[in-house]
Amino acid sequence: MKLFEQPAHVLHDMLVNKEITSLELTEAVLARIDEVEGDVKAYLTITRDEAIAQAKAVDEKIAKGETISFLEGIPGAIKDNICTKGVKTTCASKILQNFVAPYDATVMTKLREQNPVIIGKANMDEFAMGGSTENSAFQKTGNPWNTECVPGGSSGGSAAAVAAGTAVWALGSDTGGSIRQPASFCGVVGMKPTYGRVSRYGLVAYASSLDQIGPITKDVTDCAHILNIISGRDEMDSTSVNEEVPDFTKALVEDVKGLKVGIPKEYFVKGMDPDVEKTIREAIDKLKELGAEIVEISLPHTDYAISTYYLISPAEAATNLARYDGVSYGERAEDAADLVEMMTKTRTQYLGEEVKRRIMIGNYALSAGYYDAYYLKALKVRRLIKEDFDKAFEQVDVIVCPTAPTPAYKIGEKISNPLEMYLQDACTVPLNLAGLPGISVPCGYSSDNMPIGLQIIGKALDEETILRVAYTYEQSQSFHNDRAQLGGN
Ligand code: GLN
Repeated sequence: MKLFEQPAHVLHDMLVNKEITSLELTEAVLARIDEVEGDVKAYLTITRDEAIAQAKAVDEKIAKGETISFLEGIPGAIKDNICTKGVKTTCASKILQNFVAPYDATVMTKLREQNPVIIGKANMDEFAMGGSTENSAFQKTGNPWNTECVPGGSSGGSAAAVAAGTAVWALGSDTGGSIRQPASFCGVVGMKPTYGRVSRYGLVAYASSLDQIGPITKDVTDCAHILNIISGRDEMDSTSVNEEVPDFTKALVEDVKGLKVGIPKEYFVKGMDPDVEKTIREAIDKLKELGAEIVEISLPHTDYAISTYYLISPAEAATNLARYDGVSYGERAEDAADLVEMMTKTRTQYLGEEVKRRIMIGNYALSAGYYDAYYLKALKVRRLIKEDFDKAFEQVDVIVCPTAPTPAYKIGEKISNPLEMYLQDACTVPLNLAGLPGISVPCGYSSDNMPIGLQIIGKALDEETILRVAYTYEQSQSFHNDRAQLGGN
């Protein structure tokens, strides 16, 4: 395997053993960008000079015999809705096209303590609204397995970079599937931690009761290491949980004997791609062969999850995005006669179609007369969805299902039909509504050779068990060693 194809844990050992330098590694990743970024378009900002300087500093440290931390000197990408001091954070929106955050998000502060090499900021759907990265105001990212296909979204740039070898690891955010679904589409590992496990301070808010930051990596081992780094209570985010953070790498054991794995019958719905169904069934058989006990379960309110999500998330988005008014943040339209016209023009001109659609749906659902019928009702159904999971977890240790009902589809295929796009989120949004952790691990390919992801869902704050199941499954086959054939490799 080439250097840019290796996972972080292998590269870390190579750095420690002085087999490579961080500069060599960083240059290999930058050369890979020169080779394939024209097709993949995963990045909105590339911080080449800073990356080289960071790598050199790490090499000096190693030369002096100092010990290095896990991510030290290893190149990664950050989704462009995570604030990075001194570097643009655009959320792939024209309204923030020149916005430079004056501070680092808490996850960035935690990462920087590790001294990683930051390659740049990754493309996404505007304000994380979407599932294909086609809603970016700036560029369409290609899936490294077939650049005519979408990488998924909204963290499509992060997942595509890891799959293409233009980053070793990445951070994404997940409000309704935006880490797990692109991970599934790009054949990499992506985890949405429990709501509150990772601080949201400095993550540009989309739907605050659902948003969560998490890792996108080449394998489960890297996922556990990065989760260790970014987790924990933060004074700056009152919704972050005040619980001891375990060492997640201790969960990397190959053993699922006797574990009860629930298969929710509602997730194998009509309309699911036959290749996805077949691949997921094979993965379930594999878990059984490895000693897990397979239990059929029911999550009866699953059918309502999409409608519930598409009321609650736009309602929160409408509120959160009210701040982009041409006054406090970002761009301002010119030639307005008065304040209201200035705000109207600014929002009309600088926000994209999907963002406007959601602001309108959200404000409608929150308006007097409709609040009880829509927003309040959605909150009640959200509770029922959570209770479905609570009941299921009385019987089982984890729940396994597809991450997405289809593999990656062609760019342009679904974008003109928002409803069809929303239906893609059927398997991922229930976890966000319930606050639960979930991981997507590669489990095979479609007949067109596009990756398919297996989703493993856990109890709140039990990332350890899903990591253990994910790791055991991963080690039983070799999908995590496959790389997208792109460019010369
Ligand atoms: N695809 C979902 C949406 O469009 C999820 C987005 C996300 O998780 N940020 O809202």
